[in-house]
Amino acid sequence: MQRSFLIKPILDEVYPVIDYGKGVYLVDLAGQKYLDAASGAVTANIGHGVSDIIEAMNEQAKKVSFVYRSQFTSEPAENLAKKIANLTPGDLNWSFFVNSGSEATETAMKIAIQYWQEKGIHTKVKVLSRWVSYHGITLGALSMSGHTGRRARFVPLLEDFPVINPPYCYRCPYQLEAPACQYACAHELEAAIRRIGADQIAAFIAEPVIGAAGGAISPPKDYLKVIQKICEDHDILFIADEVMTGFGRTGTMLACEHWEVIPDIVTLGKGMGAGYAPIAAAVASERVMEPILAGSKLVMSGHTLSANPQSCAIALAVLEYLEKYKIISQVEAKGDFLRQRLEKLQNQFSFIGDIRGKGLLLGIEFVVDRTSKTPFPRKAVVTQKLVDLAKEKGLIVYPAGSGIDGVNGDAIIIAPPLTITEKELDELVGLLHETFTAFQ
Ligand code: PLP
Repeated sequence: MQRSFLIKPILDEVYPVIDYGKGVYLVDLAGQKYLDAASGAVTANIGHGVSDIIEAMNEQAKKVSFVYRSQFTSEPAENLAKKIANLTPGDLNWSFFVNSGSEATETAMKIAIQYWQEKGIHTKVKVLSRWVSYHGITLGALSMSGHTGRRARFVPLLEDFPVINPPYCYRCPYQLEAPACQYACAHELEAAIRRIGADQIAAFIAEPVIGAAGGAISPPKDYLKVIQKICEDHDILFIADEVMTGFGRTGTMLACEHWEVIPDIVTLGKGMGAGYAPIAAAVASERVMEPILAGSKLVMSGHTLSANPQSCAIALAVLEYLEKYKIISQVEAKGDFLRQRLEKLQNQFSFIGDIRGKGLLLGIEFVVDRTSKTPFPRKAVVTQKLVDLAKEKGLIVYPAGSGIDGVNGDAIIIAPPLTITEKELDELVGLLHETFTAFQ
């Protein structure tokens, strides 16, 4: 039997074969239409089959598709780097292009370690992180990931980088509320730094809004500021993993902008190529690049296809498309529209515990009982059931949660293409209503 090896290589389960995509819809070979309320994996941010992108793809293909990054650069790569520097806050001016979010977080980790080495400090090699987080599937990225389910098989190979609780207000381990809690969970970082020793720690990495592991967990108001201050006080770089949140997903270019925080290094991916090309980036500030440029001048990372001209041209076209149609500035209003409708669903279905998130990155957490917030006994099972039911109804939602041993319960992410219309959002909510009715 010949079969492409995907996530579930179970022989009796066959994925639908998608024929084509247009806007927020995917259509399979059998003619079944799916409303892509997950943008695949929070990736297809401008929807499917956009002709502007296809044209840019063709134009670049006619010129050159590949040059090797240690021999040449290309116009698309240089223009993309310039555009990212212009669109991101502060002096996040140095883009290192790679092909996936995992490579981006690995690269960010390596740049952070190298930053200290170039300054003559060789002990700072750990990159601390939080539980209920996901930074990628390669071993360095997985070491930073507080995703128990995805770590499980490889624990002997991983570093114990997740050390603190996430800002998961719905299930606060202190049973406090922000801001009265004074961000106790952020202050866990300070305690961890004291325990481990700042001289061992290169950086701290966090997703501004927790995606796959948590289901769009947005932090309370000053949380990220407190985190950044702790990092500064202890001479630790702050890496914001914006692989899921970057490129307008939450209503600003970077999600960090909502909380007026500028990281030392930021990682981008997913929406960067919007599914039209595998491309991601680690973007470093001038401060971080200074000792590297004054020292070895070489970032010790990279892959054969890094800064691929074809991928860079596509990412550039995606950014131009976002600008041309002023897409990011509409995200907040669309997110509010969707959230209000999800809250109406919450009144109808008692198993909807929490609705959260930012912009068009929204999460729904499911519980046995809303008052007690009791999670379903076997975590992830309910999530999968809901994802499957939704698919049967023609709706794609994204499963979230850090696995059966995770501290959080069952959740899904609703993150449609940012280009979705109000009419399509109503259709999305209608299909979700059908899904929840079938689940009841
Ligand atoms: N970082 C975050 C926040 C993510 O959500 C993901 C993927 O879900 C990654 C990193 C890894 O990206 P990729 O799957 O492209 O390797």
